[in-house]
Formats: sequence, C-alpha cells, structure tokens
Amino acid sequence: MAETIQLPTMSVPVIADVDIVVAGGSCTGVFAAITAARKGAHVAVIEPQNRFGGTCTAGQVCIWHSFFATDDKTQIVFGLSQEVVDRLNRRNLVEFWDKPNPHCYVNLNTEELCMELDEMVQEAHVTPFLHSRAVQILKADDGTLTGLVVASKDGLGVIKAKIFIDATGDGDIVRYAGGQLWRNDVMQTSTACVKVSQWPVGISTGKLIHEYAAKYNLPEGFIWGKKSVGSNTYMLAGTNIPNIDESTQAGLTASEIEGRRQMRAFMDIIAETGRPRPVIEALPSLVGIRETWHIRSLHQITTDELLSGKVFPDTAGKGTYRSDIHMRNPVGTLFRYLDGTQIFQSPYKPAETSRWRDESLPTPPYYTWPVRSQIPVGFDNLITAGRMIDADAGAYGALRVMINMNQSGEAAGAVAFKSLDKNLPIHECWQ
Ligand SMILES: Cc1cc2nc3c(=O)[nH]c(=O)nc-3n(C[C@H](O)[C@H](O)[C@H](O)COP(=O)(O)OP(=O)(O)OC[C@H]3O[C@@H](n4cnc5c(N)ncnc54)[C@H](O)[C@@H]3O)c2cc1C
Repeated sequence: MAETIQLPTMSVPVIADVDIVVAGGSCTGVFAAITAARKGAHVAVIEPQNRFGGTCTAGQVCIWHSFFATDDKTQIVFGLSQEVVDRLNRRNLVEFWDKPNPHCYVNLNTEELCMELDEMVQEAHVTPFLHSRAVQILKADDGTLTGLVVASKDGLGVIKAKIFIDATGDGDIVRYAGGQLWRNDVMQTSTACVKVSQWPVGISTGKLIHEYAAKYNLPEGFIWGKKSVGSNTYMLAGTNIPNIDESTQAGLTASEIEGRRQMRAFMDIIAETGRPRPVIEALPSLVGIRETWHIRSLHQITTDELLSGKVFPDTAGKGTYRSDIHMRNPVGTLFRYLDGTQIFQSPYKPAETSRWRDESLPTPPYYTWPVRSQIPVGFDNLITAGRMIDADAGAYGALRVMINMNQSGEAAGAVAFKSLDKNLPIHECWQ
C-alpha cells in the first residue's frame, strides 16, 4: 500500500458554472462540446495539451478512414467530420485518395487542424480550457455528479455542471466517479508517431526492424507512413510499445520515453543501411494510445453484432472500417472485414488470408453501434465518448478509429443535450 498524506482542507475556486462539461478535447470531445453548444447548451471543454485534437493533432495521426458504405459510393458519414474536411479543404489542407478506398479516405494536415478546431470551438461559444486536466469529480449525497476538479497553472479549480461527458480516452471521469471499468488481458499496442524528412520511401521496414531488433532492443513491428499534406515530411507510425498502461502517470511517462527511443533507433538503422539518416522534424506531444480501459455500459457491442451490420434503435454512428487489432503474440495485425475476409499481416512475412464468416452470408452496407455502449452504468448525468467504449476486442478493433470516435462525440453531445433539455437521466435519453 502506497504511503498517503492528508492534504490540508482547502477552498477551491469555482472557475466555471456550465450546463455541460466535456473532459478531453480530442476531435471526439470537441465534437461532443460543439454538438451540445449548437443546440443551445452552455458548454466547457477541458484539455491537458496545448491544443485540441488529441491523437489526431498532438499524436500526429493524420488519416480519417472511409466515410462510405461498403459499395464505396454511398456516403454514410456526414456531420462534423465532413464539416472539418470541408473547412480544411478550402485551404487545400486535405488530400483525398485518388480512387475509392475501402479504408482510407482523407489525409489531414494535422497542424492546421489545431487552428480549425480552435475556430470551431470559438464559433460555437464553447468555453475552452487548455493546459487543464480533470483530476477529480465532486458528487452530491444522492450520487449526482456536481463538479469537475481541474488542475491548471492556477492550481485547482472546480467547473460546476449539470451533465458530464468523459472524453478522456481512458475513462478517467468514470474512474474518479467510482464507475465500473474493465480491460482486455492484452491491450492493443501504443505507437508514438514522428514527422521526418529524408525518409527512404519504399524500404521494407518490417524486415529491417526484424534484422536489427536485437541490436537496438526493438520489438518486432512495421512502420506505416504518409506524406504530410503540402509538405515533404513524412508522418511515421511504427514504434511498438507493448505492455504499458498509459492510463497511469508512470505508464504514460515510460511510454513517451520508450516511443522516442524507438524513433531514434529507426533513424540509426536507416543510417546503418548506408542511406542518409532521416531528420526528425517534429515529435508528437502525446504518445498514440490505442487502448486502455473500457466502461461497463448499458450494452456491450460484440464483434458479431458489429460486423454482421446489426442496426440498433439508438444508433450512435455508422462505419465500415475493418476490425484492426494490433497484436503482440504473434506480432502482427489481424484484419476482419465486413465481407467475411480475414487477413493476418505479419511485419515481415506474406499475409495469411482466410475467412472469419461463411461466404454465403451477405456483406452488410455498414455497421452501427448503439449509444448505450457509451453510457456507463450507475450514473444519471454522465456519458462517455471515445475509445473507452464498451466493445469486445473485435468490435473495438473497428470502432476505435477516428471517423467512428468523432461520431461517438457527436452522439454523446446530442444525448447530453437531450438529458439537459428534458431534465431526464442520461440512461432514459438513448431512445
Ligand atoms: C499510432 C496510432 C495510429 C492510428 N491510426 C489511425 C488512423 O490512421 N486513422 C484513425 O482513424 N485512427 C487511427 N488510430 C486510432 C485513433 O487515433 C484513436 O483510437 C482515437 O483517436 C481515439 O480517440 P479518443 O478521443 O477516444 O482518444 P484520444 O485521442 O486519446 O483523446 C483523449 C483526449 O483526452 C485528453 N485527456 C486525457 N486525460 C484527461 C483528463 N484527465 N482530463 C482532461 N482531458 C484528458 C487527452 O489529452 C486527449 O486529448 C490510431 C491510433 C494510434 C495510436
């Protein structure tokens, strides 16, 4: 048991009093905040980084997957994701794939996305709190959540609110509130991205890493990358940080340092092959976290429900991105597609293709998930958005991508507003 110290009783200033507070300002959290604000709520959004956008901006992950049904023609995703793409496109800050692609749709300039999100937050009159982290939750005697304790340059402060949206990725607010969380025995690996110039495109990074793994103490894995929009730098996603729990301070610290160590090792390996050593142009300010905790919700979404295209009465969003599980043992990525195909992609061996579902079954046009998978059990005024969604491993492999998480934010914002407007508990607002 760790030693504890009793803090002196202290008065903490109320720094805001709003209808809805969103903890976590990735696109998920920002979309939740904007959705509720545009409907008329007074909303605040809290983000520890110096920018909004989460994994997409601070983590440098630049690709949003398909907005289309499995026919590659019918658009199924609109809303704030489309609005962001349109806004960036006015300044040529997005690149679309040349031909219909079942997975990738748009490459975003993630630096400029920061400014776009700033503008959108301000236009919607959402009150922004950057460099601010939610560290505790206040509750009334009947269990109703009443305030978010926030740590910032000013010390601790409280944001009072009627409804709370947890968009922290890790379910921090659910945890502070004493809610139920669970996690997979083996969580998906984390990956710190990096922007580099002089990257030698076309090399087999999986083979190189395999060859130099022992010398550089690197876990097996492969690197994918994408040229940054309007620039000659590459965004590389290749570090492989297993077995660290980034929902803790120690885990987050260890993961950031290990991610950077691996990046530098990649550059050294390229130099060892006789090529010019690539130049690291920009480090992420946040390691890319694929998975930590999930909430216990009103409905856990399963792989079968999702990939068979079950339609729920409380659909939160639609998607077609394949189930994509970054595995540790054996090392590689397991893809499951809506058409029943399964591919296991090892970093340095040929892909193995098989089927996970009978060929006679039809391919659904898209999948959906219920907003109930975002509503934690045990609370009247708390809803979540983002990767803490209550999904089994296969369903989570598909849902976790940003085009889906963006919609989970919009859904949470809409349900939070309904709860506020109708004065009903969140768990009565999903219909
Ligand atoms: C390397 C990598 C590559 C990926 N590639 C793709 C891809 O190409 N396309 C794709 O769509 N998806 C991709 N994904 C998945 C996707 O990026 C994430 O699953 C998704 O962004 C998760 O969104 P989120 O909002 O739930 O969490 P995050 O993006 O992690 O956002 C959580 C936010 O909450 C903030 N926060 C945390 N704790 C607190 C707190 N206590 N108080 C207040 N705020 C807090 C964080 O600072 C952060 O801004 C990738 C993921 C990784 C790691």
